[in-house]
This record gives sequence, structure tokens and C-alpha cells, in this order.
Amino acid sequence: MAAEAIERGAGLIVTHHPLFLRGVHGVAATTPKGSLVHRLLINGVALHVAHTNADVAWPGVSDELAAALGLEPLAPLVPAASADGDSRRGLGRICALAEPEPLARFVDRVRTGLPATAAGIRMAGQADRPIRRVAVSGGAGDGYFDAARAAGADVYVTADLRHHPASESLELGSPALVDVAHWASEWPWLAGAARLLETRLAARGTTVKTHISTIVTDPWTAHVPPEKRIRP
Ligand SMILES: [Zn+2]
Repeated sequence: MAAEAIERGAGLIVTHHPLFLRGVHGVAATTPKGSLVHRLLINGVALHVAHTNADVAWPGVSDELAAALGLEPLAPLVPAASADGDSRRGLGRICALAEPEPLARFVDRVRTGLPATAAGIRMAGQADRPIRRVAVSGGAGDGYFDAARAAGADVYVTADLRHHPASESLELGSPALVDVAHWASEWPWLAGAARLLETRLAARGTTVKTHISTIVTDPWTAHVPPEKRIRP
């Protein structure tokens, strides 16, 4: 992505995931991340990361995920703790479908709405189960099963679901699960962030040109369906 920014003569990269997830004591050019910092500095490219603040913001990561699925967010899945008066802020979103649709058709909506990845999409639940209420949470969302159930969601769309939390949630009966690639669930936010930057800066008299990177940063490069079945 740095190479793409440098090639395009960009002055600023805005990303969702931070370059450094923990504090560092140095950025030696002999390390991969340090060398990246050097390249950005030499080429005059600034880096701004909007991670969990973009997750909680309104509009934020899950609003764009909902929009990519053709859904209108009604409320946050986990409202923000900060008492700043905006009840729309928080993690994840609850949405409602205008007309109920079977889970299989809903998954097709996810398939066509999000960018393709090698891992694809996993679904847990009866294919004909009617879906009315939808919970979405961009990025790793297996900490919010209880919130999705409490919100009366028929399906929960998120990423990075693990065996135990997923099966334990399904044992409680609801919601059905749609597990997408982490990158695919967050990528729609880039267009929303670019739009916000352009319009808010334009309101202050500054015109900026944005470019939305389409580089797939999902780490998985192939999905190989197994052949060996334990039942004929
Ligand atoms: Zn993420």
C-alpha cells in the first residue's frame, strides 16, 4: 500500500489497521516495519490510522459494512460507553430487512455485496431460516454473540469466528452466523472514510483527491475444499 501511495504521489495514507499494534522503541530500517516508516518519510507520505475509533464512530466501519449488504443501520450493537450524547455511536450495527428472506438468500446478498477473498464465506444455520433482523460487526466479532442475541438478531455477520464461541452461541438457538474474511468486512469503510474526508474538508474550503486502494490484504491466498468425508 505504501508503494501504491508513493507511486500516486499521495501526501497521506489513511488506514484502518495500525502499522504498529504495540509500542516500539525504534524504527530501524533493518526491520520490515521500520523500513516502511523510512520509505514513507523519505517520500513525504504521512500515515494516519483510524482503528477502534473508526469502529465506534457514526458513521463507522459497521455502517459501511451494512450499506455494502444493502442494509440500513438502526442502532449500534454495543452502544459506546462515552456519554457524548450520540446514541448512534458504538460497535457493530443492528439492521432490519424490509422483507424477510431465507438465510441462503441472505448469504448470497453477502457474497455479492463484499469483495471476494480466497477463504470465501461460511454460514451456520438452516438455509431456509427466515431472516428479518440482522446484526453486523466489521472485523473480529466473536465477543458480541450475546449482544446479537439480546438484540433479537436472526443472523450475525462478522469475521474471524472460532469453533467454541460459534458452536456455543448456536447451541443457544440464535442467531445464525455468517463468517466473512476480516479484510472483506472492513474494506467497505474505505469508501465511507474517503467520502467523509472529501466532504468535511470541502466544507472548510480544502479540496482533497482520494484514491481507494483495492489491494487485497487478506492473508489467506487459497481455499481448498477437503475430499475425505467421514460419512458416505
Ligand atoms: Zn480489523
